[in-house]
Amino acid sequence: MTVETRTFISLDDLVGFELTCLQCKVKSVFEVGGINQPVICPMCGEKWFDRESDSRRAKLNQFFWQVVELKKLLQSFPTDGIKLSVRLEITSHTQSVSK
Ligand SMILES: [Zn+2]
Repeated sequence: MTVETRTFISLDDLVGFELTCLQCKVKSVFEVGGINQPVICPMCGEKWFDRESDSRRAKLNQFFWQVVELKKLLQSFPTDGIKLSVRLEITSHTQSVSK
């Protein structure tokens, strides 16, 4: 028998981002809304993007702020005629159970 557990989180469960510097391996945790333009490792000073114009840098920063906006948006659910809630599914692990 296989038991499959599905795990969901609400946006309220999402409280921070962990960034790992690939140079010094130090992990830095930033609260949602508390990170803007992460470009340099706070520990070793390594520049995380070789090219300042790398579009992925802006897209990552955009993502961080979109999470802030989405959290605010979803906090207004389910009011004002909205009959919907949203959660995120995260990776689950299946477990074989012998019977
Ligand atoms: Zn570092």
